[in-house]
Amino acid sequence: MKSNIRTVGVCGAGGTMGMGIAVVAARGGFKTISFDTSADKLEASRKQTAAFFDKSVERGKLAQAERDAILGRMSATTDIAKLAECDLVIEAIFEDLQVKRGLLKQLDAVCPPQTIFASNTSTLSITEIAAGCSRQDRVIGLHFCLPAQLMKLIEVSAGVLTSEETLQSAWAWTEACGQLPVKTQDRPGFILNALLVPFNNDAIRAVEAGVAAPADIDRAIKAGLGYKMGPLELIDLVGLDTQVRLCEAFYPVTLDPRSAAPPLLRRMVAAGQLGRKSGRGFFSYEGGRMFGA
Ligand code: NAD
Repeated sequence: MKSNIRTVGVCGAGGTMGMGIAVVAARGGFKTISFDTSADKLEASRKQTAAFFDKSVERGKLAQAERDAILGRMSATTDIAKLAECDLVIEAIFEDLQVKRGLLKQLDAVCPPQTIFASNTSTLSITEIAAGCSRQDRVIGLHFCLPAQLMKLIEVSAGVLTSEETLQSAWAWTEACGQLPVKTQDRPGFILNALLVPFNNDAIRAVEAGVAAPADIDRAIKAGLGYKMGPLELIDLVGLDTQVRLCEAFYPVTLDPRSAAPPLLRRMVAAGQLGRKSGRGFFSYEGGRMFGA
Protein backbone atom coordinates (compact mmCIF):
# COMPACT_ATOMS: atom_id res chain seq x y z
CA MET A 1 0.00 0.00 0.00
CA LYS A 2 1.23 3.50 -0.79
CA SER A 3 1.19 5.95 2.07
CA ASN A 4 -0.45 9.36 1.73
CA ILE A 5 1.92 10.77 4.30
CA ARG A 6 3.91 13.80 3.15
CA THR A 7 4.61 15.85 6.28
CA VAL A 8 5.69 14.37 9.60
CA GLY A 9 5.71 15.97 13.03
CA VAL A 10 7.95 14.66 15.82
CA CYS A 11 7.03 15.58 19.40
CA GLY A 12 9.86 15.45 21.93
CA ALA A 13 12.35 16.02 19.10
CA GLY A 14 14.78 17.61 21.56
CA GLY A 15 15.12 14.21 23.28
CA THR A 16 17.22 11.14 22.51
CA MET A 17 14.61 9.22 20.51
CA GLY A 18 12.81 12.20 18.99
CA MET A 19 16.02 13.51 17.47
CA GLY A 20 16.73 10.17 15.78
CA ILE A 21 13.13 9.76 14.59
CA ALA A 22 13.23 13.22 12.96
CA VAL A 23 16.44 12.17 11.17
CA VAL A 24 14.72 9.01 9.87
CA ALA A 25 11.71 10.98 8.59
CA ALA A 26 13.71 13.73 6.86
CA ARG A 27 16.20 11.25 5.40
CA GLY A 28 13.21 9.30 4.05
CA GLY A 29 12.22 12.35 1.99
CA PHE A 30 9.48 13.74 4.25
CA LYS A 31 9.03 17.33 5.32
CA THR A 32 9.74 17.05 9.04
CA ILE A 33 8.65 19.41 11.80
CA SER A 34 10.42 18.90 15.14
CA PHE A 35 8.40 19.99 18.16
CA ASP A 36 9.50 20.14 21.80
CA THR A 37 8.55 22.23 24.82
CA SER A 38 12.23 23.02 25.34
CA ALA A 39 13.82 25.43 22.83
CA ASP A 40 17.27 24.65 24.26
CA LYS A 41 16.84 20.92 23.66
CA LEU A 42 15.61 21.57 20.12
CA GLU A 43 18.70 23.68 19.44
CA ALA A 44 21.03 21.00 20.86
CA SER A 45 19.21 18.42 18.74
CA ARG A 46 19.59 20.58 15.61
CA LYS A 47 23.35 20.80 16.16
CA GLN A 48 23.65 17.04 16.77
CA THR A 49 21.63 16.32 13.62
CA ALA A 50 23.85 18.56 11.48
CA ALA A 51 26.95 16.91 12.99
CA PHE A 52 25.51 13.46 12.25
CA PHE A 53 24.99 14.27 8.56
CA ASP A 54 28.36 16.08 8.31
CA LYS A 55 30.04 12.89 9.51
CA SER A 56 28.12 10.87 6.91
CA VAL A 57 29.44 13.23 4.20
CA GLU A 58 33.00 12.99 5.60
CA ARG A 59 32.81 9.20 5.46
CA GLY A 60 31.60 9.29 1.88
CA LYS A 61 28.20 7.78 2.77
CA LEU A 62 26.19 10.85 1.77
CA ALA A 63 26.64 13.52 -0.91
CA GLN A 64 26.88 17.13 0.30
CA ALA A 65 23.84 18.07 -1.83
CA GLU A 66 21.82 15.26 -0.23
CA ARG A 67 22.85 16.41 3.25
CA ASP A 68 21.70 19.95 2.41
CA ALA A 69 18.39 18.67 1.01
CA ILE A 70 17.68 16.58 4.13
CA LEU A 71 18.43 19.46 6.49
CA GLY A 72 16.35 21.72 4.23
CA ARG A 73 13.33 19.47 4.86
CA MET A 74 13.68 19.89 8.63
CA SER A 75 12.33 22.68 10.80
CA ALA A 76 11.84 23.07 14.55
CA THR A 77 9.26 24.77 16.73
CA THR A 78 8.00 25.10 20.30
CA ASP A 79 4.56 26.01 18.93
CA ILE A 80 2.32 22.94 18.68
CA ALA A 81 0.00 24.77 16.25
CA LYS A 82 2.72 24.37 13.59
CA LEU A 83 1.92 20.64 13.49
CA ALA A 84 -1.46 21.39 11.87
CA GLU A 85 -0.15 20.48 8.40
CA CYS A 86 1.17 17.05 9.46
CA ASP A 87 -0.20 13.80 8.03
CA LEU A 88 1.61 11.80 10.71
CA VAL A 89 2.69 12.97 14.17
CA ILE A 90 5.03 10.70 16.14
CA GLU A 91 5.35 11.37 19.85
CA ALA A 92 8.56 10.51 21.73
CA ILE A 93 7.97 12.54 24.91
CA PHE A 94 8.34 11.43 28.52
CA GLU A 95 7.18 7.88 29.32
CA ASP A 96 4.14 8.93 31.35
CA LEU A 97 0.58 7.96 30.43
CA GLN A 98 -1.03 11.21 31.58
CA VAL A 99 1.61 13.36 29.85
CA LYS A 100 1.18 11.43 26.59
CA ARG A 101 -2.63 11.58 26.81
CA GLY A 102 -2.40 15.33 27.45
CA LEU A 103 -0.28 15.77 24.33
CA LEU A 104 -2.69 13.73 22.17
CA LYS A 105 -5.55 15.90 23.41
CA GLN A 106 -3.65 19.03 22.31
CA LEU A 107 -2.78 17.44 18.95
CA ASP A 108 -6.42 16.43 18.50
CA ALA A 109 -7.40 20.10 18.65
CA VAL A 110 -4.64 21.22 16.28
CA CYS A 111 -4.46 18.54 13.54
CA PRO A 112 -7.08 17.67 10.90
CA PRO A 113 -9.12 14.50 11.55
CA GLN A 114 -7.16 12.38 9.06
CA THR A 115 -3.77 12.95 10.76
CA ILE A 116 -2.32 9.75 12.24
CA PHE A 117 -0.85 9.90 15.74
CA ALA A 118 1.92 7.42 16.57
CA SER A 119 3.51 6.72 19.92
CA ASN A 120 7.09 5.56 20.49
CA THR A 121 6.24 4.28 23.97
CA SER A 122 8.34 1.36 25.24
CA THR A 123 6.07 0.13 28.01
CA LEU A 124 2.66 1.85 27.91
CA SER A 125 -0.43 0.55 26.14
CA ILE A 126 -1.27 2.16 22.79
CA THR A 127 -4.98 1.63 23.53
CA GLU A 128 -4.65 3.46 26.87
CA ILE A 129 -2.67 6.32 25.32
CA ALA A 130 -5.38 6.68 22.64
CA ALA A 131 -8.27 6.68 25.16
CA GLY A 132 -9.88 10.10 25.38
CA CYS A 133 -8.67 11.08 21.93
CA SER A 134 -11.38 11.68 19.29
CA ARG A 135 -9.61 9.51 16.67
CA GLN A 136 -8.72 6.29 18.45
CA ASP A 137 -8.85 4.51 15.08
CA ARG A 138 -5.94 6.68 13.92
CA VAL A 139 -3.58 6.09 16.84
CA ILE A 140 -0.82 3.48 16.48
CA GLY A 141 2.44 2.36 18.09
CA LEU A 142 5.68 2.90 16.18
CA HIS A 143 8.46 1.75 18.48
CA PHE A 144 11.90 2.74 17.21
CA CYS A 145 15.12 1.34 18.68
CA LEU A 146 17.97 3.37 20.15
CA PRO A 147 19.75 5.01 18.32
CA ALA A 148 16.81 5.55 15.97
CA GLN A 149 18.94 7.16 13.24
CA LEU A 150 20.98 3.93 12.92
CA MET A 151 18.63 1.09 13.87
CA LYS A 152 16.27 -0.19 11.18
CA LEU A 153 13.73 -2.05 13.32
CA ILE A 154 10.32 -0.52 14.08
CA GLU A 155 7.74 -2.49 16.09
CA VAL A 156 4.31 -1.55 14.72
CA SER A 157 1.44 -2.18 17.12
CA ALA A 158 -2.25 -1.54 16.67
CA GLY A 159 -4.41 -0.63 19.66
CA VAL A 160 -7.84 -2.23 20.11
CA LEU A 161 -9.50 0.48 18.00
CA THR A 162 -6.73 1.18 15.47
CA SER A 163 -8.08 0.79 11.92
CA GLU A 164 -6.52 -1.45 9.27
CA GLU A 165 -6.14 1.65 7.07
CA THR A 166 -4.04 3.37 9.76
CA LEU A 167 -1.90 0.27 10.18
CA GLN A 168 -1.31 -0.01 6.43
CA SER A 169 -0.52 3.66 6.04
CA ALA A 170 1.94 3.75 8.98
CA TRP A 171 3.52 0.50 7.79
CA ALA A 172 4.01 1.89 4.27
CA TRP A 173 5.56 5.03 5.74
CA THR A 174 8.15 3.04 7.73
CA GLU A 175 9.09 1.16 4.55
CA ALA A 176 9.31 4.40 2.57
CA CYS A 177 11.87 5.55 5.17
CA GLY A 178 13.92 2.40 4.53
CA GLN A 179 13.11 0.97 7.97
CA LEU A 180 12.24 -2.63 8.84
CA PRO A 181 8.73 -2.88 10.37
CA VAL A 182 7.46 -5.87 12.36
CA LYS A 183 3.87 -6.29 13.51
CA THR A 184 3.25 -6.90 17.19
CA GLN A 185 0.41 -6.91 19.70
CA ASP A 186 -0.28 -3.94 21.97
CA ARG A 187 1.38 -5.44 25.04
CA PRO A 188 4.11 -4.16 27.37
CA GLY A 189 7.52 -4.38 25.72
CA PHE A 190 6.08 -5.51 22.37
CA ILE A 191 8.52 -8.16 21.07
CA LEU A 192 11.98 -6.89 21.88
CA ASN A 193 11.70 -5.62 25.45
CA ALA A 194 9.19 -8.32 26.44
CA LEU A 195 11.88 -10.90 25.69
CA LEU A 196 14.90 -8.83 26.67
CA VAL A 197 13.91 -7.47 30.10
CA PRO A 198 13.41 -10.92 31.73
CA PHE A 199 16.46 -12.33 29.91
CA ASN A 200 18.69 -9.50 31.15
CA ASN A 201 17.30 -10.00 34.68
CA ASP A 202 18.17 -13.72 34.43
CA ALA A 203 21.77 -12.76 33.63
CA ILE A 204 21.87 -10.43 36.68
CA ARG A 205 20.44 -13.20 38.89
CA ALA A 206 23.11 -15.57 37.57
CA VAL A 207 25.78 -13.07 38.72
CA GLU A 208 23.99 -12.71 42.06
CA ALA A 209 23.89 -16.49 42.52
CA GLY A 210 27.58 -16.75 41.70
CA VAL A 211 26.98 -18.94 38.65
CA ALA A 212 29.84 -17.21 36.82
CA ALA A 213 31.66 -13.89 36.56
CA PRO A 214 29.98 -11.20 34.36
CA ALA A 215 32.70 -11.50 31.71
CA ASP A 216 32.21 -15.27 31.48
CA ILE A 217 28.41 -15.01 31.28
CA ASP A 218 28.73 -12.51 28.42
CA ARG A 219 31.42 -14.59 26.70
CA ALA A 220 29.21 -17.69 26.86
CA ILE A 221 26.20 -15.89 25.40
CA LYS A 222 28.23 -14.31 22.60
CA ALA A 223 30.20 -17.42 21.65
CA GLY A 224 27.37 -19.88 22.28
CA LEU A 225 24.42 -17.99 20.82
CA GLY A 226 26.15 -15.70 18.35
CA TYR A 227 24.94 -12.49 20.05
CA LYS A 228 27.01 -9.39 19.24
CA MET A 229 26.81 -8.19 22.82
CA GLY A 230 26.45 -10.02 26.13
CA PRO A 231 23.44 -9.19 28.36
CA LEU A 232 25.56 -7.58 31.10
CA GLU A 233 27.48 -5.42 28.65
CA LEU A 234 24.12 -4.41 27.17
CA ILE A 235 22.65 -3.47 30.57
CA ASP A 236 25.77 -1.34 31.20
CA LEU A 237 25.13 0.42 27.88
CA VAL A 238 21.39 0.96 28.44
CA GLY A 239 21.95 2.00 32.08
CA LEU A 240 21.20 0.00 35.23
CA ASP A 241 18.74 2.71 36.34
CA THR A 242 16.88 2.33 33.02
CA GLN A 243 16.71 -1.44 33.56
CA VAL A 244 15.11 -0.80 37.00
CA ARG A 245 12.59 1.57 35.41
CA LEU A 246 11.73 -1.02 32.75
CA CYS A 247 11.22 -3.66 35.47
CA GLU A 248 9.00 -1.30 37.41
CA ALA A 249 6.87 -0.71 34.32
CA PHE A 250 6.66 -4.39 33.34
CA TYR A 251 6.22 -6.23 36.61
CA PRO A 252 2.91 -4.66 37.75
CA VAL A 253 1.39 -5.41 34.32
CA THR A 254 2.84 -8.87 33.64
CA LEU A 255 3.24 -10.18 37.23
CA ASP A 256 6.06 -12.25 35.77
CA PRO A 257 8.66 -12.72 38.56
CA ARG A 258 11.40 -12.69 35.91
CA SER A 259 10.41 -9.08 35.14
CA ALA A 260 10.89 -7.93 38.75
CA ALA A 261 14.09 -5.98 39.43
CA PRO A 262 16.72 -8.33 40.94
CA PRO A 263 18.01 -7.17 44.37
CA LEU A 264 21.60 -6.92 43.03
CA LEU A 265 20.43 -4.49 40.33
CA ARG A 266 18.78 -2.25 42.93
CA ARG A 267 21.88 -2.34 45.18
CA MET A 268 24.15 -1.37 42.29
CA VAL A 269 21.88 1.54 41.32
CA ALA A 270 21.80 2.70 44.97
CA ALA A 271 25.62 2.62 44.93
CA GLY A 272 25.69 4.81 41.81
CA GLN A 273 26.91 1.98 39.57
CA LEU A 274 24.74 2.83 36.57
CA GLY A 275 26.88 1.31 33.82
CA ARG A 276 28.88 3.11 31.14
CA LYS A 277 27.48 6.54 31.96
CA SER A 278 28.84 6.40 35.54
CA GLY A 279 32.07 4.60 34.61
CA ARG A 280 31.07 1.39 36.39
CA GLY A 281 28.37 -1.24 36.21
CA PHE A 282 28.94 -4.94 35.69
CA PHE A 283 32.20 -3.82 34.07
CA SER A 284 34.31 -0.73 34.62
CA TYR A 285 35.06 1.82 31.93
CA GLU A 286 37.96 4.19 31.54
CA GLY A 287 38.63 6.31 28.46
CA GLY A 288 36.31 4.16 26.36
CA ARG A 289 38.05 0.91 27.45
CA MET A 290 36.13 -1.82 29.25
CA PHE A 291 37.47 -3.91 32.11
CA GLY A 292 36.02 -6.95 33.90
CA ALA A 293 34.34 -5.86 37.13
P1 NAD B 1 14.06 12.04 26.56
O1 NAD B 1 13.86 12.41 27.99
O2 NAD B 1 15.46 11.98 26.02
O3 NAD B 1 13.24 13.08 25.62
C1 NAD B 1 11.93 13.47 25.87
C2 NAD B 1 11.73 14.84 25.22
O4 NAD B 1 10.33 15.15 25.29
C3 NAD B 1 12.47 16.00 25.93
O5 NAD B 1 13.21 16.74 24.97
C4 NAD B 1 11.33 16.84 26.52
O6 NAD B 1 11.63 18.23 26.55
C5 NAD B 1 10.21 16.53 25.56
N1 NAD B 1 8.84 16.71 26.11
C6 NAD B 1 8.37 16.31 27.31
N2 NAD B 1 7.05 16.60 27.41
C7 NAD B 1 6.70 17.18 26.23
C8 NAD B 1 5.47 17.66 25.70
N3 NAD B 1 4.34 17.63 26.41
N4 NAD B 1 5.47 18.18 24.45
C9 NAD B 1 6.61 18.20 23.71
N5 NAD B 1 7.80 17.76 24.17
C10 NAD B 1 7.84 17.25 25.40
O7 NAD B 1 13.29 10.66 26.34
P2 NAD B 1 13.65 9.43 25.35
O8 NAD B 1 14.62 8.51 26.02
O9 NAD B 1 13.94 9.98 24.00
O10 NAD B 1 12.25 8.66 25.35
C11 NAD B 1 11.13 9.20 24.71
C12 NAD B 1 10.10 8.12 24.44
O11 NAD B 1 10.69 7.09 23.64
C13 NAD B 1 9.57 7.41 25.68
O12 NAD B 1 8.22 7.09 25.47
C14 NAD B 1 10.44 6.14 25.76
O13 NAD B 1 9.79 5.09 26.43
C15 NAD B 1 10.59 5.81 24.29
N6 NAD B 1 11.76 5.02 23.93
C16 NAD B 1 12.97 5.25 24.50
C17 NAD B 1 14.06 4.49 24.12
C18 NAD B 1 15.43 4.74 24.73
O14 NAD B 1 16.27 3.81 24.69
N7 NAD B 1 15.69 5.93 25.26
C19 NAD B 1 13.93 3.47 23.14
C20 NAD B 1 12.68 3.29 22.54
C21 NAD B 1 11.60 4.05 22.95
